[in-house]
Amino acid sequence: MLVDSFGRVATDLRVSLTDRCNLRCSYCMPPEGLEWLPKPELLTADEICRLVAIGVERLGITEVRLTGGEPLLRRELVEIVGRVAALRPRPHLSVTSNGIGLARLAGPLAEAGLDRVNVSLDTLDRETFVRLARRDRLGDVLAGLAAAEAAGLRPVKVNAVLMRGVNDHEAVPLLRFCLERGYEPRFIEQMPLDAQHGWRREDMVTADEILARLTEEFALTPDDPAARGSAPAEIFLVDGGPARVGVIGSVTRPFCGACDRVRLTADGQIRNCLFATEESDLRGAMRAGASDGELAARWAAAVRGKRAGHGIDDEGFLQPARPMSAIGG
Ligand code: SAM
Ligand code: SF4
Repeated sequence: MLVDSFGRVATDLRVSLTDRCNLRCSYCMPPEGLEWLPKPELLTADEICRLVAIGVERLGITEVRLTGGEPLLRRELVEIVGRVAALRPRPHLSVTSNGIGLARLAGPLAEAGLDRVNVSLDTLDRETFVRLARRDRLGDVLAGLAAAEAAGLRPVKVNAVLMRGVNDHEAVPLLRFCLERGYEPRFIEQMPLDAQHGWRREDMVTADEILARLTEEFALTPDDPAARGSAPAEIFLVDGGPARVGVIGSVTRPFCGACDRVRLTADGQIRNCLFATEESDLRGAMRAGASDGELAARWAAAVRGKRAGHGIDDEGFLQPARPMSAIGG
């Protein structure tokens, strides 16, 4: 098992399949994009599947989320989903995507064994989308969402980051849009993980503000907290349910004490936290001939050293060198 020194057990593995992306969301990367990882540094599909198998078969991983960058840009995505879904015990398997290309891929992904998707959608307004994501692709995202629902990748969850003065007036319209289609929205506080280090606390729309806006229009009642488990979202029933909305107060309501996550970057580094400043190199060990047992031991050691919390409020807080797109959000 992957246990840290505070007794937390990591069972939820986030795998970044690529650091590349076809959008340029301003809270994530600069307009010109980033210097992408050179191909030889990326894990191959075989290497990814080998490491995920070690996680599932030897280390107690029960949930696998494929992310990025934009995971739909990874050509072998359907193959990787099929291979991970064939592992025993079968992990719960999901993808976080910006939705571009999902119209074409939702069916094949569901057939290959994908259970669910989270699609990021921050605005319903085309011009705001272009301003925020710097690409004119809102139509593709909406088509991707509809295809995910039609393919049975349910419940389709919608991730939204609100930014002050950009889309913070869209909390209610986004929730209404989701309610009408049976999607489950998750509003996420903006975190200091952008490549350009432009995050400012004053610009962050807090969980309290999001809830205040939503309760102007809807009655929200906290869902059974026991059902939350180690999930970061606080879940609320909307107008008595069954519709639900989640609010993820990563910064103002940290959930580090219940965290069960561990991350594998696209270049094969284990990170025990989004905000970790150290990584453990499984790619190098694997390419030098390490056995499955040796890789598992290295991975377990990396988790053991996990810090108590992200420390964003600490005086000496250092934003990690890797941005969200390269860690795997
Ligand atoms: N490209 C995919 C997407 O956008 O869904 C997957 C990767 S993206 C890094 C994963 C999630 O992280 C998205 O929902 C995105 O909105 C969120 N995200 C990116 N940068 C963020 C930040 N600085 N603060 C909070 N969430 C962020
Ligand atoms: Fe790309 Fe996702 Fe980052 Fe947006 S949040 S730039 S879609 S990786």
